[in-house]
Amino acid sequence: MKSKKRVLITGAAGFLGSHLCDRFIAEGCHVIGMDNLITGDLKNIEHLMKLENFEFYHHDVSKFVFVPGELDYILHFASPASPIDYLKIPIQTLKVSSLGTHNLLGLARVKKARILVASTSEVYGDPTVHPQKESYWGNVNPIGPRGVYDEAKRFMEAITMAYHTYHGVETRIVRIFNTYGPRMRLNDGRVLPAFIGQALRGEDLTIFGDGSQTRSFCYVDDLVEGIYRLLMSDYAGPVNVGNPQEITIKDFAEEIIKLTGTKQKVVYHELPVDDPKQRQPDITLAKEILKWEPKIDRAEGLKRTYAYFKTLSSEELNKKEHREFTKQ
Ligand code: UDP
Repeated sequence: MKSKKRVLITGAAGFLGSHLCDRFIAEGCHVIGMDNLITGDLKNIEHLMKLENFEFYHHDVSKFVFVPGELDYILHFASPASPIDYLKIPIQTLKVSSLGTHNLLGLARVKKARILVASTSEVYGDPTVHPQKESYWGNVNPIGPRGVYDEAKRFMEAITMAYHTYHGVETRIVRIFNTYGPRMRLNDGRVLPAFIGQALRGEDLTIFGDGSQTRSFCYVDDLVEGIYRLLMSDYAGPVNVGNPQEITIKDFAEEIIKLTGTKQKVVYHELPVDDPKQRQPDITLAKEILKWEPKIDRAEGLKRTYAYFKTLSSEELNKKEHREFTKQ
């Protein structure tokens, strides 16, 4: 009898994907990591490469996905995930969550594997309901700069439910809210690496808009625990996983200034188009069905994340993003 569970994780070299690889390796699984390395970085999984229980495929899941042997679980975490990335690679962003999800659902079907897909709080768009519950349908601009991500993720949910309903595939959908922690890409434009990077380089912290918009930040270990529990549950509907501790971006900048001890000030820049005004997960459902809630508060999570960013070399710290994106 087969003892070891075999797990395919797409986006394995990314921030969340690499932490998931760690978790499934720790659970004694055989992990197959897949990534096209457009936004991911092999450095995030370097420590796994020597392990017998880990293998890596350099592949774009928007193209046909072939994996030899049996699979028990598939976790689809491949996607650009920051507003700057969507602007640079909009078509790849659309393809990975639409064509990529279709390919992976097909793979799950033939392998009789359970598949969990990474959806997002962005399916709620600029929400008019606060906090956001899974039953809220959202307020998304399909043709705005975020539309390529938001609509692809909404399609991802739709096709995942269709495969569940029509083909009986075992599916799970996690709606991930803002998450942070070690291995976030320093220059991906997201607010936490932006602020910490600026503090470490001795630059002013850039607040977009007046800073009154809110976000709710979840530490990566809490998120991974929620995802693991969802995969092991029998619930096929979408589930919010995030930390409800909400904060304005202005107050968040103050927290980073205190944490890093920087002498710099904040400066105000224009608010990006369609930037959501508020975001906070309602996690009643996750508490009920997964018996899950976050354990690590922002003070502790930020301390751990700052410790990671401080280990980066000054070369990495000053590197601008010079990624040459291939034809979309
Ligand atoms: N933001 C900011 N300064 C920055 C980067 C981001 O004020 O240097 C703001 C951004 O406009 C948004 C919030 O921080 O309101 C969170 O942005 P992020 O890109 O991290 O994620 P989002 O939740 O918008 O997808």
